[in-house]
Amino acid sequence: MSNGRGGTAQREIPQAYQRRAVPENAAMTTPLAPDSACPCGSAHPLSACCGRYHAGPLAGQAPTAETLMRSRYSAFVLDRLDYLLSTWHPSTRPATLAPNEPGLRWLGLTVRHHRLHDPDHAEVSFVARSKLGGRAHRLEEVSQFVREDGRWHYVTGVLR
Ligand SMILES: [Zn+2]
Repeated sequence: MSNGRGGTAQREIPQAYQRRAVPENAAMTTPLAPDSACPCGSAHPLSACCGRYHAGPLAGQAPTAETLMRSRYSAFVLDRLDYLLSTWHPSTRPATLAPNEPGLRWLGLTVRHHRLHDPDHAEVSFVARSKLGGRAHRLEEVSQFVREDGRWHYVTGVLR
């Protein structure tokens, strides 16, 4: 994959991730009990999986690009916009994100591969499925991640 870091002209945000501007007072999270199955499909409870990185002592400290990617998918499902922004590299981070479209259901995540380019750069290929208004949507993306100051960040993604 080419290095897509840098100017906004190179940014390719997956269509499903393109959001409207955040309305004032928008609900920032969708409640999900900590012992619910994690949305990322790991079969672990949310609190023992992606939830650890959304909040608490390990907040923002996903140990690998893949765990960060999974936790970002779960954050999309849960409308944790704060987490999505905080784990988005400043060079490509949008100013704001809007919550999910009403009625949008995220159906699941499949991680295809996780590959280290070097200790601080990695890519994750994944498929995310969703449904809106009775229409299924399949998003296949190869995302690039960078680790800075010990924390992984999403940089950019290219649709497949
Ligand atoms: Zn998870």
